[in-house]
Amino acid sequence: MMIQDIAPKKLNNSYSNKSVNTNSLVVISDEGKFLLKVDEKENTISYPTAEIIGIELEYTYLFSIDDEDFFFLNSGQEFTNPEGFEFYDMRALRKDYLYPKHYVFAAYTAYQLIEWYEGTKYCGRCGSLNEHSKTERAKVCPNCGKTVYPRINPAVIVGVTNSDKLLLTKYRTGFAHNALVAGFTEIGETLEECVAREVMEETGIHVKNIRYYKSQPWGIASDILTGFFCDVDGDDTITMDATELKYAEWVPREEIKLQPLEYSLTNEMMKIFKEGLSH
Ligand SMILES: [Zn+2]
Repeated sequence: MMIQDIAPKKLNNSYSNKSVNTNSLVVISDEGKFLLKVDEKENTISYPTAEIIGIELEYTYLFSIDDEDFFFLNSGQEFTNPEGFEFYDMRALRKDYLYPKHYVFAAYTAYQLIEWYEGTKYCGRCGSLNEHSKTERAKVCPNCGKTVYPRINPAVIVGVTNSDKLLLTKYRTGFAHNALVAGFTEIGETLEECVAREVMEETGIHVKNIRYYKSQPWGIASDILTGFFCDVDGDDTITMDATELKYAEWVPREEIKLQPLEYSLTNEMMKIFKEGLSH
């Protein structure tokens, strides 16, 4: 199960210029934190409605999940923090308050869109104030005509196999749990070339039989993560890049320790290898 697996619910993120109503859910973010009400007993989160925040304020439509519409509160407007709501960090959200799951996915997706809206207020070419396209999710410069669309950064996550062992890593900064080789694609590079390059740079290993597994949107870094498995090609001696990693080892299936956090593609890939299901 990954963060985007919210079936039978369904995300509809096609652009619409629909306007807010009293039942619309409002995403208010402040430097990676979200205004939410948390029920610690039930382990659930909820969003404020536009009625609670103030229907007279200005909002921008984000997306819907089934019949629930999500908007964000346009920046620079005063509002009163409604009772019971507080700002929560996204990472804590994923760890501690997992339900309903589509609300967690909504937070990640909203974050990426809000970042895009906030970062494209002005034209990157001439500096004029951009306008929203009337027909699609794009910003258009009324002065020079430059159009910008939401940008998604492709990245790879790589499970390198060596018979019944998997190449596990730990990154030097940030995330402290077992991970797989990962990195962003460079301009001019295919995903497969990126897989081979990242494995080589981080561990000095050559790979073959690169095969696609699954992908995962990851709004916190505006990524689309693409998961690949591949096999070691030739010498399996690891030469770790110590500037990036603090750990890189071949770990036998039965000794693989999964991440405590659910919902990530990395964790799912480690899990299916551990269970002998990788292909
Ligand atoms: Zn312009």
